Amino acid sequence: MALDLILRKARIGTHEPQTVDIAVADGRIAGIAPEIAADGPEENLAGRVVVAGLVETHIHLDKACILDRCKSEQGTLAEAIAEVAAAKRDFSEDDVYRRARRTLEKSILQGTMRMRTHVEVDPRIGLKGFHAIQRLQKDYRWAIDIEICVFPQEGLLNDPGTEELLIAACEQGADLIGGCPYTDSDPHGQIARIFAIARRFDRDIDFHLDFDLEPSRMDLDEVCRQTQAAGWGGRVAVGHVTKLSAIGRERFAEIAKRLADAGVAVTVLPATDLYLMGRDRDHDVPRGVTAVHRLLEYGVVCSIATNNVLNPFTPFGDCSLVRMANLYANVTQIGRPAELASCLDMVTTFPAKLMNLKNYGIKIGNPADLVVLDCGDPALAVAELARPLFGLKNGRRSFVCPPPRLLAQSSTFG
Ligand SMILES: [Zn+2]
Repeated sequence: MALDLILRKARIGTHEPQTVDIAVADGRIAGIAPEIAADGPEENLAGRVVVAGLVETHIHLDKACILDRCKSEQGTLAEAIAEVAAAKRDFSEDDVYRRARRTLEKSILQGTMRMRTHVEVDPRIGLKGFHAIQRLQKDYRWAIDIEICVFPQEGLLNDPGTEELLIAACEQGADLIGGCPYTDSDPHGQIARIFAIARRFDRDIDFHLDFDLEPSRMDLDEVCRQTQAAGWGGRVAVGHVTKLSAIGRERFAEIAKRLADAGVAVTVLPATDLYLMGRDRDHDVPRGVTAVHRLLEYGVVCSIATNNVLNPFTPFGDCSLVRMANLYANVTQIGRPAELASCLDMVTTFPAKLMNLKNYGIKIGNPADLVVLDCGDPALAVAELARPLFGLKNGRRSFVCPPPRLLAQSSTFG
């Protein structure tokens, strides 16, 4: 067989110290072995870590890059929702496309190759945002697989006309359906409607959920109950659940078991949670980030994701999932190498599982979606913010970021 490329001495997986060669042919992984004896173009990675492309499970491309039109003075969730709701009235399809493209290109350069993006649908924006992201989905297929999750950011039962638009988006190819019960006048009513739409169109579900630090009332139990009632285990994810950062170990363990039993996955969004939570405090501000690595111990599928970029929800963002894994590890006080490595798993293999990706991973026959990180150890990738040096999407180079070089000079002149 004619090989298109052989990556030599790659370190794959987070727990295997031996290096392997990876052969690429016809856009797919054609071989993985300690030494592949074949000819063809090759690249010696000298023991660098290779991952199967980073996986972003939760990002809002449609409302990225709007800091020039919004204020973030209080830094609260209520302010962010109100500011974006006002700005959204002036969004056009082209405007959404341009801002989303800028954000998407940054993500690609950071090594992201699979993405779930949440897109707002309501009677003000209509399907303009959805159509813009659909165009982007098609235009960037050479570099990234995007799935679109349409959802009602400003409520469903309190916002007549929204449900019809969500249904229209599903009819036009939305990949999954999302919810945001905490902005609804009837949170449990919204959860029930979202499940009804998911069943009608056979779609997975991704909720924004339990997004404050008041643990006395949670919607999580209702989501688990509906998941089991619908037989939707393994097809439901929830994002934020910052309330879980405000409870003790015993209750945390009970909820972790409940999530694992129901098959509900969890995404933590450290940049947004850190920025928006605890704004009622003027000192000793809580971190407000749920310790998802402790949920992993119970068998809950967990991911670390970006959420927002340069808007009132999160006025930061380089779209780097490696940076997000590092931020998460730092905030949740992770230092052991195995746990640091599991943070890399939470931007690669676990999110692939959360998204039910069938052809993800460095395995023979899978698409050759590969990213080379400039480090020799998965734990250090998180600790040192290793740069993605280049990526292959379906066997073709989709980006390069050569490492920076020092330009040494003699310290004396003449
Ligand atoms: Zn979100």
